[in-house]
Amino acid sequence: MSVNQFLKPITTEVNEKGHISIGGCDLADLAKKYGTPLYVLDEETLRGICRDYKNAFKDYPNIKMMYASKALCTSAVVRILDEEGFGFDTVSSGEIYTVYKSGVDMSKVLFNGNNKTRKEIELALDLKVGRFSVDNFYEAELLNQIAEEKDLNVDILLRLTPGIECHTHEYIQTGQIDSKFGFDLTQVDEITDLIVNKYKNLKLKGVHAHIGSQIFELKSFADEVEILIKEIERINKKFNLKLDEMNIGGGLGVKYTEEDCPPDVKDLADVITEAMHKHSVEIPVIYLEPGRSIISTAGVTLYTVGSSKTVNIDSKIKRYVSVDGGMADNPRPSMYQAEYLAEGVNVSALSNRVKEKVTIAGRYCESGDIIINEIELPKPQAGDVLCVYNTGAYNYSMASNYNRVEKPAMVLVKSAQSDIIVNRESLEDLILHDNIPDRLRK
Ligand SMILES: *Cc1c(COP(=O)(O)O)cnc(C)c1O
Repeated sequence: MSVNQFLKPITTEVNEKGHISIGGCDLADLAKKYGTPLYVLDEETLRGICRDYKNAFKDYPNIKMMYASKALCTSAVVRILDEEGFGFDTVSSGEIYTVYKSGVDMSKVLFNGNNKTRKEIELALDLKVGRFSVDNFYEAELLNQIAEEKDLNVDILLRLTPGIECHTHEYIQTGQIDSKFGFDLTQVDEITDLIVNKYKNLKLKGVHAHIGSQIFELKSFADEVEILIKEIERINKKFNLKLDEMNIGGGLGVKYTEEDCPPDVKDLADVITEAMHKHSVEIPVIYLEPGRSIISTAGVTLYTVGSSKTVNIDSKIKRYVSVDGGMADNPRPSMYQAEYLAEGVNVSALSNRVKEKVTIAGRYCESGDIIINEIELPKPQAGDVLCVYNTGAYNYSMASNYNRVEKPAMVLVKSAQSDIIVNRESLEDLILHDNIPDRLRK
């Protein structure tokens, strides 16, 4: 089994006090020490999936692992992935800067995105980012112009839309024809011609695609590889080039609930290498850009239960239990109807409570702020600490200050030690960027 197939961090246990512990740290103690809501990240789980990926592809010599930073980009996370030998897929100045300040060799960084600004492109060039994934005609011209001004050559990949529909939520599908990302296959010749004959500062190295996220069907990846190889063969022949890089993006699924059965990373590797071997073309470098499957399982969020409410609808009882966080620290349920598993951390105290069906509601002023719709739990009471699993990806990275609430802290746990890796925001932080014009001052 690979780590993305686990619902909980791999170090999760019930300790001698009857509490859930992760990374050897008692979750009730963490909640007490750091407060809630609290993001907890397990280092062993994170390093475990990195090694799963590396082992799975060990027979394919030219694999380059790039972490998709957008899933969770903090300096300590970058340090761990750098130690594990990963490069970084970035999509903004902020991600590029975080990676740079964390001491990463910038040649291992790729800059991706469908509307990179001049300022971002300049920063990326100044910091010597290794690859640009060029998304559209506008960007190709702008990038070439800025590179010319700076007298630089830029290594690029072409972001393609391979026209694959994978079965996932429509907001996280990216490979279908009507996607906002990339060149569709009918535009490839035109852009290649421009790069070869006009944009002298752009050096085309290969192609890039990313077909979606939370994908369980490996066949989608086989189809993608097939389309990209054919495209490379075609471009090479037509333009007399030797493209030798293929970035197949990320997208492998994780296990949010017991019903989810994501594939093993080994099987993903088999599907990809098999598709490669079917072709005569030598493609020395494959980039893989997993985000969710790298970081999701390692993260959990702790909340404290507060108020609850019972409503009687047509003699059907619905019980809401509210916690001290919600859609601002985890927007996924309200954005994508995402599902999660939660448990009370004090397992022994809960063992003699009756179970009931509850809906875990957030504290934000939106009716849609529901973290889990209907879950069976030992009757939650005010003061209980709840652990929501698999929140490492697209939680903190999508967090907001909605309702002017401070973003939670994040701690890294390992071998019974816990360290803050993101400080909890303070009230002062919330007004830090505000300014009152003189005429309004009191
Ligand atoms: C979002 C994204 C990824 C990562 O996707 P996951 O589903 O988190 O693995 C990789 N590559 C590109 C281009 C992306 O936009």
